[in-house]
Amino acid sequence: MKKKIWLSPPHMTGLELKYINEAFASNWIAPVGPNITEFENKIQEFIGKGSHVVALNSGTAAIHLALELANIQEGDEVICQSKTFIASVNPVLYKKAIPIFIDSESNTWNLCPKLLEECIIDRIKKTGKAPKAIIVVNLYGMPYNVEEIHKIAKNYNIKVIEDSAEALGSKYKEIPCGTFGDYSIFSFNGNKIITTSGGGCLITRSILDKNEAIFLSTQAIDSGNDYTHSKIGYNYRMSNIVASIGLGQIHSLGDRITKRRENFDYYHKELSTIPEIQFQEEPLDYYSNRWLNCILVDSENSKNKISELLSQDNIETKPSWKPMHQQPLFKKSVSYVNGVSDDLFQRGICLPSGSNLDNDDLNRIVTIIKNYFNY
Ligand SMILES: *Cc1c(COP(=O)(O)O)cnc(C)c1O
Repeated sequence: MKKKIWLSPPHMTGLELKYINEAFASNWIAPVGPNITEFENKIQEFIGKGSHVVALNSGTAAIHLALELANIQEGDEVICQSKTFIASVNPVLYKKAIPIFIDSESNTWNLCPKLLEECIIDRIKKTGKAPKAIIVVNLYGMPYNVEEIHKIAKNYNIKVIEDSAEALGSKYKEIPCGTFGDYSIFSFNGNKIITTSGGGCLITRSILDKNEAIFLSTQAIDSGNDYTHSKIGYNYRMSNIVASIGLGQIHSLGDRITKRRENFDYYHKELSTIPEIQFQEEPLDYYSNRWLNCILVDSENSKNKISELLSQDNIETKPSWKPMHQQPLFKKSVSYVNGVSDDLFQRGICLPSGSNLDNDDLNRIVTIIKNYFNY
């Protein structure tokens, strides 16, 4: 059996154990400790001034707290990008709010501004008020159309939650993703560009929101020393051990972005001359961390065949995220669709994109795809 090539595996730097050992030596084996603050500071330095970072135990928890801070209540409508991973939307259900799904635009594969505005106008007509928040995604690391989406959100006074789980290191007009939303999030799950094994963070625009998020993530204990509670709290804080892994990882974030972008360049150079293959191209002013490379092939049949051929060679692929409006879980939900995300799902294959891929690995992958198309 040939060496397994994974889709997007963890890539350790070797420094993680040093920080974990420090944590052990000082006995901060808890969801409090100096490495948590240190990790928050490093992320904050990376994305720049004006952002406040709250380290949490998952990206999903970060979205849940973002909805909490945006004051989303039971029955409120929340606009969600249909083309995403379920974790973008599950927290809306935790709040008993109502997700309304919107399709993608064909260039960025993210929330379509035109449909967004049509949807808002239609919701106002049908319910008498605009939805309360928008959850927009930087899919596979590609920024969404920041200018257009925020212009519309501002016009209708709707809060934006930026799901930047996949886009640490991406930029729109030179500004880092994760800084555009009223609330933004990153994930450090095992498959992301850097990992803490499992973890995430919330990015807020004010220190007040940061403090409130820490309060909510640590069981919402009122001040005083007698275990008084006036609000629902959660146990969502990142552990000091997990933060230690993050501290080791963040040293190499720049290299990880470079390497993932090189993976894209390799696939693009080798495969873009095949007329049956298309890529998620960067529009002008967009910079993707190229977390995951998804190619579109000519048909669903080719997609299935290629995935099978790669799998026979011990190479992992994944379909592109199945749109939320196609999910059994959301069969009663309202959605505004244009066919783009259905098409991306039908023809999309995610290829191995890890920062630990070598040239032999990449060569094995493109050779199989080229052979399939007789190139
Ligand atoms: C990974 C991911 C999340 C969730 O992050 P977790 O840390 O796994 O909870 C949310 N949204 C998107 C788009 C993701 O890819």
